[in-house]
Amino acid sequence: MICDRCKETIPEGDDVFDHYGKNLCEDCYIGAVQPPRSCDPTAVDSARSTRAMLGQSGTQGLTPIQKRIYELICEKGKISREELFKSFELPQWEMEKQFAILRHCELVRATKEDGIIYVTTL
Ligand SMILES: [Zn+2]
Repeated sequence: MICDRCKETIPEGDDVFDHYGKNLCEDCYIGAVQPPRSCDPTAVDSARSTRAMLGQSGTQGLTPIQKRIYELICEKGKISREELFKSFELPQWEMEKQFAILRHCELVRATKEDGIIYVTTL
């Protein structure tokens, strides 16, 4: 039996998995039923539950830079994303990442007004 996906021979006696009419070896079957996720919708849940598990709330468990970002947003109440990003000497991708974590922890949120993205605390 040949695996329809990787074209490897599935040895006699090994399990052959049927996936939508294709014969797959075990590795390919696992890969087929659990496709790698590029965008993980459970990231928010896991960030939230990890913090809940650790008994963290507010800014607890945040890194110093995340705290500084959060504190600036608190101070301003509402700040445009552009201004926020410019306030820190971090590369754009790094800011995006830190900001995403704050959003996942449900500390901040972004709103769009007149085409400008503003950040506020929750
Ligand atoms: Zn295979």
